[in-house]
Amino acid sequence: MVRLILFGAPGAGKGTQAATLSQQLQVPHISTGDILRSAVAQQTPLGVEAQSYLNRGELVPDDLVIALIRERLSQPDAHSGWILDGFPRTVPQAEALDRLLQELSQRCDRVVNLEVPEPVLVSRMLERGRQDDTEDVIRNRLQVYHQKTSPLIHFYRDRDQLTAIDGHADVPAVTAAILDSLEDANHLAS
Ligand code: AMP
Repeated sequence: MVRLILFGAPGAGKGTQAATLSQQLQVPHISTGDILRSAVAQQTPLGVEAQSYLNRGELVPDDLVIALIRERLSQPDAHSGWILDGFPRTVPQAEALDRLLQELSQRCDRVVNLEVPEPVLVSRMLERGRQDDTEDVIRNRLQVYHQKTSPLIHFYRDRDQLTAIDGHADVPAVTAAILDSLEDANHLAS
């Protein structure tokens, strides 16, 4: 059973690592970005509302993503673990997650911060070429990250839940480092 938050700037490799770890550890990979993109593609009411935020690289309002994650974590496959990718992204989201986990009698094992130098983030995103990976939107997403998301580093560090990992290493080395951090967390808990 693993409950892990993958944290980091856009382009840090959260999605890549979450996909691998989800297979290895047999727990669902929950990406708010993926859920929102699929809602936009299907033009559901959530998608219609979220679309302009995604296109501009702005954060979707907290109440929308909090409702989305509440629903997702309440589904049966999430009862025995999860990997969160891209949530929480603001302090109110982290506080809402705390309350939700308390309601569900769950506890997050570790928050892993994938640290990657900014020029590498930008070139990775440009290579990836997603619809919101144009230069202007990338610049905005990084600014939003610094303003609204990076304060969460202090939030989780203050509670001794954060492990910083060099996200610039190759993909298997980063995976191994994350698995190590989870082992350490298990030792601490037992
Ligand atoms: P990502 O795939 O994680 O890079 O997310 C893509 C876009 O989805 C972001 O630029 C935001 O517009 C939106 N998004 C994803 N997760 C969140 C979140 N936790 N809070 C607000 N907006 C989000």
